[in-house]
Amino acid sequence: MQSKKVIIIGGGAAGLIAAEQLSATCDVHIYEKGKTIGRKFLVAGNGGFNLTNAAIEDDLYQKYTPHPVLQSALQSFDTQKMRAWLEKLGITTFIGSSGRVFPQKGVKPIQVLQKIKDKLLDNGVQIHCKHEFIGFNAHQLPILKHQSTTFSPQADAYIFALGGASWSVTGSNMKWLPFFEQLGISTQPFEASNCGLEVKWDAAFRDKYAGTPLKNIQVSLGSTSLKGEALITDYGLEGNAIYPIVPLIRTAFKSLQPPFLAIDFKPNNSHQNLLSKTKGKRLKTKNYAYEFNLNKAEFALLKAFTTKEEYLAPERFIEAIKHLKIPIEALRPIEEAISTIGGVSLNALNANYSLQKYPHIFVIGEMLDWDAPTGGFLLQGCFSTAMACTHYLKTKCQ
Ligand SMILES: Cc1cc2nc3c(=O)[nH]c(=O)nc-3n(C[C@H](O)[C@H](O)[C@H](O)COP(=O)(O)OP(=O)(O)OC[C@H]3O[C@@H](n4cnc5c(N)ncnc54)[C@H](O)[C@@H]3O)c2cc1C
Repeated sequence: MQSKKVIIIGGGAAGLIAAEQLSATCDVHIYEKGKTIGRKFLVAGNGGFNLTNAAIEDDLYQKYTPHPVLQSALQSFDTQKMRAWLEKLGITTFIGSSGRVFPQKGVKPIQVLQKIKDKLLDNGVQIHCKHEFIGFNAHQLPILKHQSTTFSPQADAYIFALGGASWSVTGSNMKWLPFFEQLGISTQPFEASNCGLEVKWDAAFRDKYAGTPLKNIQVSLGSTSLKGEALITDYGLEGNAIYPIVPLIRTAFKSLQPPFLAIDFKPNNSHQNLLSKTKGKRLKTKNYAYEFNLNKAEFALLKAFTTKEEYLAPERFIEAIKHLKIPIEALRPIEEAISTIGGVSLNALNANYSLQKYPHIFVIGEMLDWDAPTGGFLLQGCFSTAMACTHYLKTKCQ
């Protein structure tokens, strides 16, 4: 009996795992517009490749917005199953600091990608690069363009895994969004997530401290606080302590409230504790850095964002050490963001990630409108949505 044919459009993380899952039972074809597959997967390896995270159950689900919709996909294919899947491919992982899961030391993203690619080729998946999806025909079948030829390949199911809208150099350029809108599918505009924040630095401060990390800080906005690290950049701040605050900053801008970020430079010292260092001393400002154990960048930042009165009075300066308010001017542009929100609305989908309107079309990965912080949760979300769709299709292919 001839096996069912599945076409996957987009050869990124989500498309590749979907292909691997279906390859044992279906005739699988990947169509990718770039010259190679998995380019964002490779970029993800710059500066720490978090394949997933150690978080499980509620600690995992609550990282995702909107989590009730994604929960069942995450439940069926959670971080432990993800690690087991990688292990089966010959990619051993370990849990690093703050629960991030990395490939075994020395293993590069290109090697992980190669293992996935080898498995696909072994299982007979056909990978067609330089094929661009350019819209749907009158029968809601995808139109693909290769060189100067266009065609609409026939298949039993079509899985779209076209990615979000950032880092267009890796192929994810959001040009597909109007094609889904023309089909009458509900979509949301793309916005940056997990991106840097713009801060108006004084030029001298920027020239001296851009590139300096702020370690072991706590960042807060409203009632949300988290510990981590931020990097001072030319334009402002970025880093793992910053990205989870981005949704709150976005909301604040939308409600026209100018957002402030508060930094606690000494989250492990109470206000009282810092105050005790001043007891019995006539503390001079030139001794602040030594007494409060502040490095040059921290001290300069405190000086830049305190008033003269706050700076000169040790008690008020301590308040600033614990809660330095920094005005945020803007979010960095979509192109630079690690991930984006927006794309196909989750409420346009069935539980198996097919479109309610056109059940032969499935949509997975970052092209769907969901959000999660960095730390392995983005790839996990892409893999879990892919698994939810392939779990259903596998039963149809048998
Ligand atoms: C700098 C950076 C670092 C990151 N680090 C991490 C990390 O450490 N951990 C983590 O979990 N996540 C990380 N991410 C996020 C993660 O890489 C993405 O969420 C994930 O790759 C998205 O997978 P996807 O398959 O949905 O989309 P993509 O990987 O973007 O793949 C989409 C594919 O579709 C193709 N395509 C697009 N349009 C068309 C078209 N019209 N026709 C045909 N093909 C098309 C693209 O060329 C691309 O190959 C990082 C992202 C960036 C930018």
